[in-house]
Amino acid sequence: MAVLDPIPVTALRGVGPRLAQQLADYGIGQVEDLLFHLPLRYQDRTRITPIAALQEGAEVTVEGEVRLADIVYGRRRSLVARIQDGSGSLTLRFFHFSAAQKNQLQPGTRLRCFGQVRRGGAGMEIFHPEYRALNEPLPVAETLTPVYPTTNGIGQNQWRKLCSQALQYLERAAPPDLLPASTRLHFSLAAALRYLHAPPPDAPLAQLLAGTHPAQLRLALEELVAHNLSLLRLRERQQTRTAPALRQDRAQALQHALLASLPFTPTGAQQRVMAEIATDLARPVPMLRLVQGDVGSGKTLVAAHAALQAIANGYQVALMAPTEILAEQHRLNFAAWFEALDIGLEWLSGRVKGKARKAATAGIASGEAAMVIGTHALFQEDVAFHRLGLVIVDEQHKFGVHQRLALSQKAGIAGHPHQLVLTATPIPRTLSMVAYADLDCSVIDELPPGREPVTTLLIDSQRREQVVARVAKACTGGRQAYWVCTLIEESDALQAQAAEATAQRLQEALPELSIGLVHGRMKPVEKAAVMSAFKAGEVALLVATTVIEVGVDVANASLMIIENPERLGLAQLHQLRGRVGRGGGASHCLLLYQSPLSRSGRQRLTAMRESNDGFYIAEKDLELRGPGEVLGTRQTGLLAFRIAELPTHNHLLEQVQAIAAILQQGDPAVVDELIQRWTGTRQQFGGV
Ligand code: ADP
Ligand code: MG
Repeated sequence: MAVLDPIPVTALRGVGPRLAQQLADYGIGQVEDLLFHLPLRYQDRTRITPIAALQEGAEVTVEGEVRLADIVYGRRRSLVARIQDGSGSLTLRFFHFSAAQKNQLQPGTRLRCFGQVRRGGAGMEIFHPEYRALNEPLPVAETLTPVYPTTNGIGQNQWRKLCSQALQYLERAAPPDLLPASTRLHFSLAAALRYLHAPPPDAPLAQLLAGTHPAQLRLALEELVAHNLSLLRLRERQQTRTAPALRQDRAQALQHALLASLPFTPTGAQQRVMAEIATDLARPVPMLRLVQGDVGSGKTLVAAHAALQAIANGYQVALMAPTEILAEQHRLNFAAWFEALDIGLEWLSGRVKGKARKAATAGIASGEAAMVIGTHALFQEDVAFHRLGLVIVDEQHKFGVHQRLALSQKAGIAGHPHQLVLTATPIPRTLSMVAYADLDCSVIDELPPGREPVTTLLIDSQRREQVVARVAKACTGGRQAYWVCTLIEESDALQAQAAEATAQRLQEALPELSIGLVHGRMKPVEKAAVMSAFKAGEVALLVATTVIEVGVDVANASLMIIENPERLGLAQLHQLRGRVGRGGGASHCLLLYQSPLSRSGRQRLTAMRESNDGFYIAEKDLELRGPGEVLGTRQTGLLAFRIAELPTHNHLLEQVQAIAAILQQGDPAVVDELIQRWTGTRQQFGGV
């Protein structure tokens, strides 16, 4: 079949400059791009359903005669019409309507309506149906009706017209099938596109809606291959760049001194990962390595060990954390470790202002501080680095790829700095293949000795007193506890208020207990004071907002209460729970939920009760919430698939890797075209 020449969308009927611009916003410039703008779901307008056969929730076409139409003054004023088709009668309800509309619905008028059926007080109803008067019989649709993704004012009818025109071009010349011929597939590319834009009336709707139709699998497979290839390409490009070769022998003295100063020896897993990183850093190409390790596995030490290799070679290191508290915690750790080694350290967060900020940025720019720790503030324009050789990012998923990029660009060296990414949210293997194929991965799969699994209990908030009693028991027994308050609102102010109120109530209930409070609205010094009192054991119960999610490390704490845990994602719950169980002895996490729980809420909390394993939790999270939420990369568009869906298409991933490997050895032009076809302009975000 002939190859489709690029045809601009303006060649289509009805596409003027305005629509062309709107389409361009979608990355659609050519007719072929339209073919890859795939429907989200379908409506069945190919048949008329008898009213008696209507099922709640279904989207249906019905025909009938208007019996009455009236304005009803209930809780909300509405126009209500009743139609009948011989099998039964149906209510149509409009909350927004015009006088003309009421006049049009005269008794005796025959209507064809389309909409979703719901059960009302007086039988089946449709709210705001699409409808038209039938003066003569009207043909029904010949195919299922596609519903396209849209946001910027292009209506469904417009999309349908555009895509059906594009399908006519497809009849003349199809986009080339780029997957290797050896791939066993039920559909050719052209056939899959045709099927999905215009499925025949007998198409299995449920299967299409589930995303498991063979035509969908055909395209999902290709899309996943394209994503995998684009990441592999990034990785190749990365390999052609230069970075400072950081010699291992130069770092040995410092690294030995650090390890000798610790009250413990690194676990086998830590040692293995430290060695992997050390080898990478010694090479003259930029390292891009992801270290995954469950909460408490000791990632900080691994990072410090790597930092010393850069510092010993005369390079600066920046460590970036997503929250102020976590950055602060790192600062304390690194200060304690590095002061003894006589290494200068500088600290920067959004709250460091004025003179202090000037001094900090000066220390960074001059290189006086070989170790720089901070939050997003490190991205700010006034921060210039001095021979930045290594960038360490803690909690990768909260930073976008382009933020890492921004930091690399300010490195002040000829090549690129090495990058080390730490995450406590284990990336399910399935997902890392499409999301992180451009990174090397190390896993710290061992916890330091003495860690006890945390026992998790679900407790209805009605039984709050019981929980308070447990807190009293733990604390009088010499252990410490956390009480975490959550709110749906992201507002710091409201969260702080809630935490304050809780602290007050708990203090009234437990007057003899020393209770501390931390929340995001407090000044850093105040926060630091409370945290260090907790660390020193002077505060027995720490009431906190989710600011303590990461970075707090108090081994004596053995009890964690989380209020309204149903509002949090699994990853966040797992992080919070990881604050206890660090000191030996039994530890508990009480999830004080608000009933009734939604189905997904119950599933999440049950997963928490069932397992302490970060990987299990992450797989569950992926299953329940999808990859965008799990990775937090939705905004970056990194995983904005058009048709592929995880975990629905997980079973394709093995094949994806195999096909990508074959294609990579073949014609690079084919790889280019696949990447362009599926990731379009979004490729630019991936640049490192
Ligand atoms: P995470 O991986 O969650 O960032 P941290 O680096 O904060 O974990 O380490 C948690 C605690 O465990 C810290 O107090 C740290 O000093 C301690 N730690 C790290 N490695 C070991 C080890 N090998 N043996 C004992 N304790 C360790
Ligand atoms: Mg950590």
